[in-house]
Amino acid sequence: METVSQVLDSIDDVGRDPRRGGYSRPVYSAAELDLRSWFIEQAQRRGLDVETDRNGAIWAWWGSPSSSGPQALVTGSHLDSVPGGGAFDGPLGVASALAAVDKLRARGITAGEGGARPLAVTAFPEEEGSRFGVACLGSRLMSGAIDADRARSLTDADGITFAEAAARHGLDPQHLGADPQAIDRVGQFVELHVEQGRGQIDLGPAGGAENSVAIGTSILGHGRWKFTVRGQGNHAGTTLMSDRADPMVAAAQVVLAVQRVAAGRDDARATIGRLQPLPGGTNVIASAVEMWMDVRHPDDSVTAALVETIHGKAQIAAANEGCTVTLTEESYSNTVHLDAGLQSRLHDLLPQAPSLATGAGHDAGVLAAVVPSAMLFVRNPTGISHSPEEWVERDDADAGADALADVLEGLL
Ligand SMILES: [Zn+2]
Repeated sequence: METVSQVLDSIDDVGRDPRRGGYSRPVYSAAELDLRSWFIEQAQRRGLDVETDRNGAIWAWWGSPSSSGPQALVTGSHLDSVPGGGAFDGPLGVASALAAVDKLRARGITAGEGGARPLAVTAFPEEEGSRFGVACLGSRLMSGAIDADRARSLTDADGITFAEAAARHGLDPQHLGADPQAIDRVGQFVELHVEQGRGQIDLGPAGGAENSVAIGTSILGHGRWKFTVRGQGNHAGTTLMSDRADPMVAAAQVVLAVQRVAAGRDDARATIGRLQPLPGGTNVIASAVEMWMDVRHPDDSVTAALVETIHGKAQIAAANEGCTVTLTEESYSNTVHLDAGLQSRLHDLLPQAPSLATGAGHDAGVLAAVVPSAMLFVRNPTGISHSPEEWVERDDADAGADALADVLEGLL
């Protein structure tokens, strides 16, 4: 039987990014398609029946789902990554689910027959929103949390729409969207994920086995907004400093305002992680700057107030530079409290595991609106994620797969 680390070793070289470090595996890129093929092959090798649904999520079934039979137990995560991400964010949950299937088999457990419910391992597309801008796009589509027309028209950096990308990979763009039949098959969803902050480290001494796996409680409310600052494109050599309407200078002040406003509020996080001058030349004063802001806070009304305050400061900064600024919301997810009954079941099954809230978004947070959902976190000794430094020790990965197998066995 393969360990989780051995399963992950087989994709160690897929999507490595020599410039950024780590991995770049945007949805429907060559790397992510390789991972999808890998997942299908791994599932088939384990005798699971694989299907891809109309939104591009892959389901590997142990036992057949049926509308008349019991609802399935579902586990899984995602295969795509942020630009220059770590090896574990997403694939750890998929690999642990595959390893858990092996462990259940070894324990003599059978899903989908003899009264036991079917079990599925899933991989959702575009969880990170790295290519089309909306995080958890696959689970949002399936659950109806995003309008299908809006999803179809999302574009990547090369101007390719999500509809075009989906069509290139065998999906019918007209069939993207809410899929109540797929959801009705699911009784519960359990996502195992690498911890993406210092939560588990701070719970106890590093290396203590008791904190290697934690049970999720809540997912921090988060959203993405786009600023467009417009000024006057011009020549860097002939335009006097006093004659400029330089949107980059205004944008720099917005970046600082984001940091100051969030730093002044407990539990707030706000980030400008992407900024794009147009046209983008060394000897060119930009005509516009686009930048994307991520804001998070446990209280959704505080998030709204933070965004409003930042917007006000951005308007002042833009006006002072002779520029204008617009702000549009690209996506928003409320703070999610994961199903209390399911959490309590997980605590019964994993009595050593502490509780942990997360500041990162997950498909489980989107699915929680339509099916009871739970999360397991595996300790990340660096406390760093969305970066090549993200890490999971082999022993902790094994403990995570054991915990997932215990949970699945208990819930089946
Ligand atoms: Zn993730």
